Amino acid sequence: MPTANKTALSQEKSNYIGRFAPSPSGPLHFGSLVAALASFLDARSQNGIWRVRMEDIDPPREQPGAAHQILKSMETYGLLWDGQVLYQSERYEVYRDIISDLRARGFVYPCTCTRKDLHGTGGVYPGICRDKTDNTKSPHSLRVRCPDTIIAFQDLIQGSIEYALPDLGDFIIQRKDGLFAYQLAVCADDAYQGITHIVRGHDLLNATPWQIHLLSLLNTAAPVYAHVPVITLANGGKLSKQNHAPGIPLDRPEQQLIKALRALGQNPDAELDGSSVSEILQWGIKHWQIDNVAKQPIVPLATLS
Ligand code: GLU
Ligand code: ZN
Repeated sequence: MPTANKTALSQEKSNYIGRFAPSPSGPLHFGSLVAALASFLDARSQNGIWRVRMEDIDPPREQPGAAHQILKSMETYGLLWDGQVLYQSERYEVYRDIISDLRARGFVYPCTCTRKDLHGTGGVYPGICRDKTDNTKSPHSLRVRCPDTIIAFQDLIQGSIEYALPDLGDFIIQRKDGLFAYQLAVCADDAYQGITHIVRGHDLLNATPWQIHLLSLLNTAAPVYAHVPVITLANGGKLSKQNHAPGIPLDRPEQQLIKALRALGQNPDAELDGSSVSEILQWGIKHWQIDNVAKQPIVPLATLS
């Protein structure tokens, strides 16, 4: 296993704790590099702690070796984290306890709906099982009953964001196959790790209201959020294994880092050409301007040089 940054824990008292939370479903591609770099630069420019959490809660979607490969890539790119990597696969007991507690408090209900039942709902759960009382015998997922409230927050990049929770619907925290859902694990661990700042891809912006709500049920204040553009293929397609997006190359990280800085609206000096990874990152930390990151949800890879 690659090792963590051994020098930085002296900053343990920082009031900034950020994190990068990759899922090991494939190698680190350019889009995840951009998200990781944004989170890293925002943390380091404020003398913050920066953690890595491996979100390995979905074995069917996991690619063997990907977790190790992601950490290796991060080291090659100089994105050195503080402390130990937290593996979500080691936290099942905690997730189970949180779910029992939420159930006991009446915030969760079983849902037996099949994909067919939900056909045509546009991804917003229409509440079919909300008031059923005898649902637990058949296979079921568990959903959080969302109140009729508005969640508003100030995103450092996207500005004022407001969602009515009923427009998003009740969300799953444990799947029918028993696996814990991302929304549950991410909130459990952001709370556990004391995360104060979340800088991540725009694709998660509309999950944020659910997460703020779930954090409140865990008696945890919402962190500060910043959602950066997602880098896509020319046709808007996701950079992913399915689309044959390659992992970032390990042999010329400098070039890719400069390109990633540009993708984040930063203006790397021409003199950085020929600089080392650590010089580029030092420059990035010193000049980080979150205000220069585009609000756009996506940036096609082909538009970056
Ligand atoms: N594991 C999630 C992903 O790779 C990101 C989680 C997050 O940053 O909240 O898409
Ligand atoms: Zn249902």
